[in-house]
Amino acid sequence: MHGTAPQPPLKPKEYKSDVKPIWCAGCGHFAVLSAITKSLAHLALPREQVAIVSGIGCSSRLPAYTHVYGFHGIHGRALPIATGLKAARPELTVLVTGGDGDGFSIGGNHFMHACRRNLDLTYIVMDNEVYGMTKGQASPTTPPDWTESKLTPHGTGLPSFNPAAIALASGAGFIARGFSGDPSGLTDLITEAIQYPGFAFVHVLSPCVTYHPEQKQWKQVVHEQVEGATADPLLAAQRMQQGDRMTTGVIFRANPIYPTERNESAKVSLEQLREQFLTG
Ligand code: SF4
Repeated sequence: MHGTAPQPPLKPKEYKSDVKPIWCAGCGHFAVLSAITKSLAHLALPREQVAIVSGIGCSSRLPAYTHVYGFHGIHGRALPIATGLKAARPELTVLVTGGDGDGFSIGGNHFMHACRRNLDLTYIVMDNEVYGMTKGQASPTTPPDWTESKLTPHGTGLPSFNPAAIALASGAGFIARGFSGDPSGLTDLITEAIQYPGFAFVHVLSPCVTYHPEQKQWKQVVHEQVEGATADPLLAAQRMQQGDRMTTGVIFRANPIYPTERNESAKVSLEQLREQFLTG
């Protein structure tokens, strides 16, 4: 009898490519890359069954550093590209990676609608509250009184975007916050997000040591959420609005998870989505 011998599980490093990251020494994104590869290894996902899609920015270089399928897209458009991929190849595990500028400014509209569509994607945003690749402009999550950028020497004066709250309001079923300074906690969050059968958003505090060197202090202020995840959107909204946004853990996990009762009326099936793509 002929058969294929079972393959031994891959190690995290086998999900990394030979391309050396060009991130600055100390950048938080190194730990996010490592957490993603550890999660893929933990879940024993075959490399050919995984795709990582990104937009533009320092963090969006991440697919090139992995040994799975990857697509380095255009600014702010990672989510629609990933949506098309998932609609065409629903059996793939599709991760989307990017930064706060890419995902919440240029891609902000896509972010809301990806949450609402609730396709089975894992969206990992490395938030450092700045556009790093283009040398330090304020992003949607920049604090209003940050005066270190030459482009906004008096601060933006604008309230910063609250990614978790926007995700909740837009219908995401799984919302978590992680920290690159806690690689093992981040690996657990990403693993849980990949396993979640719906749209999972992981907001990662990932310092930019070059344009926001003060973020090196985040390790002193980031803290774990004491309460477990809630399935109550009102309680989750309260925590997101009242907290200091430095709390890590799963904040919201809808139950039943997919399709959620909460957004059942807004759910689009893969078949419907394919139909929309075909008919333009
Ligand atoms: Fe990381 Fe900032 Fe350097 Fe970009 S500029 S690689 S975000 S430290």
